[in-house]
Amino acid sequence: MSQLIFHGACGQSWTGLTRAHCSGCHEVFVSSGFDKHQRINGGKVTCLPPADVGLIAREKPWGVLWGMPGGYWDDTEGGDA
Ligand SMILES: [Zn+2]
Ligand SMILES: [Zn+2]
Repeated sequence: MSQLIFHGACGQSWTGLTRAHCSGCHEVFVSSGFDKHQRINGGKVTCLPPADVGLIAREKPWGVLWGMPGGYWDDTEGGDA
């Protein structure tokens, strides 16, 4: 079942409950990629450019999804593979 999630602050929408939308840079990640994207240092969250931490972009019907090359993309969830 496809479930569209919408972030009113930036207008981005995406599908998949295990995907993470960054409230800092408003990119969408698979959960494993999100862990790489954000660096937490002394309670301060820093957004790293997704490409710089080895993530690759995939075009989705709703926009760009960042994830691990060859990794788990949650494509069975949401039915939007
Ligand atoms: Zn970010
Ligand atoms: Zn957003």
